[in-house]
Amino acid sequence: MKIKGIGRKTANMVVGGAYGKPAIIVDTHLMRVSQRLGLVDEGLSPEEIEFKLKEIVPEEVQTKFSFALIRHGKKVCHAKNPECQICDLKNLCRWYKASFKYT
Ligand code: SF4
Repeated sequence: MKIKGIGRKTANMVVGGAYGKPAIIVDTHLMRVSQRLGLVDEGLSPEEIEFKLKEIVPEEVQTKFSFALIRHGKKVCHAKNPECQICDLKNLCRWYKASFKYT
């Protein structure tokens, strides 16, 4: 992060993806999915989300967890029109339960 233009997200991507060390990589997809699932509260900063998830996700799977949530956000849990009906996580999802509790 001492390199100009490199923020926490990119630094953590290098730490986790290239060096294989534990990293929570907070991009817009991970933020949205972790908030919708109820893993973190709404309104937290990316850094607060990173530290909160570091508390609850075991170190040995943090990088895999990050890439899985990012992929899930790109493929299923879109910002607009998430595909909840085909989502394997819907039974665990706070957002889904709140949105579809009367259906
Ligand atoms: S149930 Fe819907 S909102 Fe929840 S994680 Fe799946 S796609 Fe996202």
